[in-house]
Amino acid sequence: NHKLIASPSRTTEIMQTYGIQMKKSLGQNFIIESQILDKMLLAGDVDAQTTVIEIGPGIGALTEVLARQAKQVVAFEIDQRFIDILAETLRPYENVQVVHQDILEVDFDHPSLRFLQEAERLVVIANLPYYITTPIIMHLMGSSLPFDKLVMMMQKEVAERMTAPVGSKAYGSLTIAIENTMHASVAFTVPKTVFIPQPNVDSAVLVLKRRAEPLVELADPEAFQSFVKSAFSQRRKTLRNNLRAAYKGTDVLNEHIEAAFIQAGIDGTRRAETLSLQEFAALYQTLS
Ligand code: SAM
Repeated sequence: NHKLIASPSRTTEIMQTYGIQMKKSLGQNFIIESQILDKMLLAGDVDAQTTVIEIGPGIGALTEVLARQAKQVVAFEIDQRFIDILAETLRPYENVQVVHQDILEVDFDHPSLRFLQEAERLVVIANLPYYITTPIIMHLMGSSLPFDKLVMMMQKEVAERMTAPVGSKAYGSLTIAIENTMHASVAFTVPKTVFIPQPNVDSAVLVLKRRAEPLVELADPEAFQSFVKSAFSQRRKTLRNNLRAAYKGTDVLNEHIEAAFIQAGIDGTRRAETLSLQEFAALYQTLS
């Protein structure tokens, strides 16, 4: 007759027992509805063969539910106060490892984390601290971790940007950064009422599923990404004007840019938001 941490009564009780106030600055909003967590696990296909990386376990609401279904859970938490609390709240679960570290500082190639590379199946499931959503995703995608899915609660607007279709207002360099290697979709939206304290924004659970092959082959993904960013630097301006400004003072001259437009078959009067990833790649490859 165990009451889950993800319930209003247990969460309040734990906070009172340990005399904890949540820190807004660290994005601390805790889930008190276990059905939401069950849906996240379903979206991540968590089973007894799955190793899960969690970011920001807090007092362990999601960690507990993961521990009951997954093979193993490795959770990274920045706030020292929760480390001792988690040792208590997660005591019954032997398959959980809590690491006291800023997720953005984690080196996933470190020997102590080598076992993650060798996991039978690896996923990341997290109720993210919203203030660093994009840096966390970039850090994970830039690592050598062989995860096949990321399932993450985030601000609804950010999830929309990551899944935006070409030509829409939300479409931008972030959409493109993700699209090449991952298929992005919103699994479900989440009301504010499932958190303590309630956040000021609406939330959604985003799923990124790794593609079998990247959509385009990029020799230097980082250089490509900064090229795309420069194309979007002034959204209302044409591609021609943004690229001319970006290459000003370099050995890429305006005539080279015009030649690249012709070769890639792209009209320079278009705006960046109308270009697909494949079109950006064609233009970039012609220019570099
Ligand atoms: N997992 C819990 C839940 O679902 O109820 C708490 C989620 S809360 C939205 C975000 C958690 O991330 C907090 O516990 C916070 O302390 C932690 N956090 C914030 N910044 C972090 C960072 N840079 N690295 C690791 N954890 C971080």
